[in-house]
Amino acid sequence: MWLWILIAVVLAALLVLADREIYFYEGVHLSPRIQAWLYDRWSKKYDTGKGESQKQDAEFLAKPLLAALTDVPAPLILDVAAGTGRLPFALLREPDFKGNVIAVDISLGMLSRAAAKLAGSRDRVSLLRYEKFPLPFPDESFDVVACLEALEVMPEMESPLAEFARLLRPGGILLTSRGTEASGRKAKVLGAEEFTRRLNRAGFADVQITPWWRLFDRVFARKPGVLSPAGIKPVSELLLCPKCRQTGFQQQASALECVHCGRSVAVNDRSVIIYP
Ligand SMILES: [Zn+2]
Repeated sequence: MWLWILIAVVLAALLVLADREIYFYEGVHLSPRIQAWLYDRWSKKYDTGKGESQKQDAEFLAKPLLAALTDVPAPLILDVAAGTGRLPFALLREPDFKGNVIAVDISLGMLSRAAAKLAGSRDRVSLLRYEKFPLPFPDESFDVVACLEALEVMPEMESPLAEFARLLRPGGILLTSRGTEASGRKAKVLGAEEFTRRLNRAGFADVQITPWWRLFDRVFARKPGVLSPAGIKPVSELLLCPKCRQTGFQQQASALECVHCGRSVAVNDRSVIIYP
């Protein structure tokens, strides 16, 4: 009798723990592989679940971002943890947007959804699956780095913020989000003041936190400096080779091949770059 009660208690505790790790922290403490697997599983219904958040993507993300980029007619944008491609999807619907987006995510399932949604615009959106930081791009490559509804499910904030600062050109814009107090269970909540302090510590200025929807505030910040237009480059000219760490790839049938050392990086049948 007591043995059965003990087993029941242990099982219940395990279920609570698994629920907390999977749905509360979205697998962040488990491993990048498990986290990617969870997102792969969730990717099919992801846009339905995020419906409330995505209704206002034009007003809250695309238009204000373009308004902040009036001096840069063709911005190059890096979207980190891009999921199903909501940001490029919203940007490409704006006639004023003349730039390109490189969207990166750890989940191939999410990127496959993005590939389907963005099928008509793949000349302007590159998709890349990565597993860990640092991201394979040289310093000061992008006019904008976006990371929406994702900082909270990374193991900590310092290294992603340092990475975003490295990748931005001087004067470049960070577009991110802060999990609100109402999000409670879904996010590791930091108050607006503490969130601002962390961004300042990572080198960002002009932090603007604006209420967005129930679970997240929208956050704009800027890397100090003056943003001058640098034009857009294709991903084949931006990507760092995993072997020789130089830029410059040639497009082959189902791979990119480094022009310096010959190392190839796979590209799948949905044109998603699978970075090793
Ligand atoms: Zn190489």
